[in-house]
Amino acid sequence: MLLDEHTKCSACGEAASNKCTACQTHVYCGKDCQIKDWPEHKKICKHVRQEMIVERAGNLLKELYLDLREKTFDNHIVQVNAKNPKELIIYDGNLKDRVGWFQKFPNHLVEKGSIKNGVLSTLTCNEPLALMKGAVEKLFKGDHWKTTEVEVALNPPPRVSIIYLPDKVEPQTNWPSYGHNLLHLHSVHSKRKWVVDLTGDQYGIPQAVWTWSDYKSRYVAKIDCVGPLGSSEEILQKSSKINGYPSVSCGAALEAASRFQEGIKSWEKVNDLTLCELVKLPGQKFKDKRRELLNTMGIFMAQYVENVEAAYAAKYRDVSMYETENPGVSLIQQMGLSKEFSNGK
Ligand SMILES: [Zn+2]
Ligand SMILES: [Zn+2]
Repeated sequence: MLLDEHTKCSACGEAASNKCTACQTHVYCGKDCQIKDWPEHKKICKHVRQEMIVERAGNLLKELYLDLREKTFDNHIVQVNAKNPKELIIYDGNLKDRVGWFQKFPNHLVEKGSIKNGVLSTLTCNEPLALMKGAVEKLFKGDHWKTTEVEVALNPPPRVSIIYLPDKVEPQTNWPSYGHNLLHLHSVHSKRKWVVDLTGDQYGIPQAVWTWSDYKSRYVAKIDCVGPLGSSEEILQKSSKINGYPSVSCGAALEAASRFQEGIKSWEKVNDLTLCELVKLPGQKFKDKRRELLNTMGIFMAQYVENVEAAYAAKYRDVSMYETENPGVSLIQQMGLSKEFSNGK
């Protein structure tokens, strides 16, 4: 956490719970102490408030993303082994046994929330930032924020994820073979910089919001590329035109993203509250509304998947045939596309 939960009066140090209404972080035992502390506190109140907003918004993005990922889950997983805290081992099932495109997330295979988030995050590549682009734009409005997508090579992470495919002896490992995508935030006014790591759980990094300097010094070996918000979406759009699996996997993600955007818009309208206003609400009200938003979006996306499940199952059958007739072709095209983007960014 960037912010400590404050429980002591910022002026006298006694136990206190009256929050400064501006930053909603520092607490006071009473009016007298608050007035006495103001000359000092006003120097940092704005900064503290901004941190609070970034922390709320970043965590909300991650929760929204992971829930969306769970609702639209598309990996056929048959076993998960997380006994070794440094390894998350995932076993994919046989393709022949796979039915349909969307898969029920295997909650029975994961005990702890952090492991579940790890499974949800593993090798999601460009998807998270593409799916969350609209929500990012709503939370971090244009003039005040510069938002970019950063791909980094990580230092040896606290945990690696290893995926076994039934027909291959060599497993796929998320580190060091793959870059890691982050949302980078730069406040135009305060000049401060943060990153939001939506999918860090696959590397044993559960914290979503970091100051850029902390994240960089802890985890980043090298910055691979920097692109504007929307870069991930662009890759997904190009990939969705490749025949075979990518057309379904990337096409499904793009369609889900646009439905998700509609859901957010309609929630904002019904509640007469924008996401940007939501993260500025007073404590309890924020918690209540946030819960409400997550519930509503969860139901909305589950309903969406139910509606399109049959259509995607049919698309999946078609592309499976294409893949059998043209083995490996789509994979090579997709890899070429990723490389082209990495070099271009
Ligand atoms: Zn006091
Ligand atoms: Zn304050």
